[in-house]
Amino acid sequence: MIEAVRTLDKVERIGAHSHIGGLGVDPTALEPLQNDGTASQQGMVGQRRARRAAAVVCRMVSEGQWAGRGVLIAGKPGTGKTALAMAMAQQLGPSTPFTKLTASEVYSLEVSKTESLTQAFRRSVGVHIREETDVIEGEVVEWEVEREQAAGSAAAAAAAGRLVLKTTDMETVYELGRKMMDALVRQRVKVGDVVSIDKASGRVTKLGRSFAHSRDYDATGAGTRFVACPEGEVQKRRQVEHLVSLHDIDVINSRQQGFLALFSGDTGEIKPEVREQIDAKVAQWCEEGKAEMVPGVLFIDEVHILDMECFSFLNRMLESDVAPLLVCASNRGVTRIRGTEYRSPHGLPVDFLDRLLIIATEPYAEEECREILRLRSVEEDVEVAPAALALLTKIALETSLRYAMYAMTASALICARRKAAAVEVEDVKKAYVLFMDTKRSTRYVQEHADDFLTMEEADTPVPPS
Ligand code: ATP
Repeated sequence: MIEAVRTLDKVERIGAHSHIGGLGVDPTALEPLQNDGTASQQGMVGQRRARRAAAVVCRMVSEGQWAGRGVLIAGKPGTGKTALAMAMAQQLGPSTPFTKLTASEVYSLEVSKTESLTQAFRRSVGVHIREETDVIEGEVVEWEVEREQAAGSAAAAAAAGRLVLKTTDMETVYELGRKMMDALVRQRVKVGDVVSIDKASGRVTKLGRSFAHSRDYDATGAGTRFVACPEGEVQKRRQVEHLVSLHDIDVINSRQQGFLALFSGDTGEIKPEVREQIDAKVAQWCEEGKAEMVPGVLFIDEVHILDMECFSFLNRMLESDVAPLLVCASNRGVTRIRGTEYRSPHGLPVDFLDRLLIIATEPYAEEECREILRLRSVEEDVEVAPAALALLTKIALETSLRYAMYAMTASALICARRKAAAVEVEDVKKAYVLFMDTKRSTRYVQEHADDFLTMEEADTPVPPS
């Protein structure tokens, strides 16, 4: 039976945080650097207490003193919870994997809640694979396939072809195994091609064409780029490095429908046996020095939406040897734990809460809002006049930082239409009128309540006339 695998392929919302490059703290004292507009600030503004706490967590993680615990970032919407989580990932190192999951995403009809969480966990653990491969590299002088011989015994199949490769001054004859021979056929290798062949996997990479042999080459090669023959040894040792996530390895090893299934993402759950085998294999690679685990950051936004089953699962996952740093966020106070009658801080069960260090984020002051908006304008390459920036700051304080950012992007488009160089107050006003913020939208809905269909009304069957 063909096994099906369903993966949660998603686009990370990173655009809004692309100005952030780390926590912007002093590396020794872990003190947040002043908002001086320089690169050392790493795009982070204000939230000094939260940044200091986050930096301490990162230090503990780097020193291996962070097992079985997580972080909860608590604060009002738009106070930089996601930004702080991303900054923590960057603080841990440039190739640290970062996965963002909004808690409601686990309630999918297609995969179970625990499967969604497992995929998110494994997506947040990177595997740095170092591959040492022996390659044969050179220009193809001649090659032939001895198909008749290969049809016989296994020994004959092992010597199923012959390849003559040359560098600038010598020619070497290789006996080809079936794998390499097949690869040469598939890649349509011709005399005059410069190729690299991985001796272990038989993978053939065409590097280009050699000018020297173009005369031996027929018309089908017209237009091919000619390259000089590589010099030096025909055989080379190559170090190849890849960073993949545990989830990537799971998916590749679960797909039985072939390579194209990687793109469909529509194929069922990954079996626990597959994951066990992969864990054993990766552990072996690590022991042999061929790979290294890179625990990343798993950020779960709106964590109060999870239920007891998810919380027990997260408790268990935190205990695993290769757990990523779990960072949760919530903007709730004391609220009901989903699916129960119990109320608790942030809607989290006490045993789970007990594992979390809580970092609070605070609302921004006017100067901080202005600086964040200024950083976004630089990031989005939008020239904003000082008066327009002041208006956007006022809008951010009265509505939300995120609304002000969207208003800035819209203002830039309006400004571009009138072919002006910088966003002015008039552009911002037009954008403000075009798009409502939550407060205005709520007021509008309340004022026109009679014109809207409520859920109760929508559910009421219409009597037959
Ligand atoms: P929500 O609760 O609605 O998910 P949030 O608390 O996660 O919001 P973010 O999405 O992180 O808030 O912040 C809104 C925007 O402001 C983002 O573009 C973010 O990058 C930016 N931002 C927030 N705080 C900071 C900060 N301290 N420094 C720089 N940029 C920030």
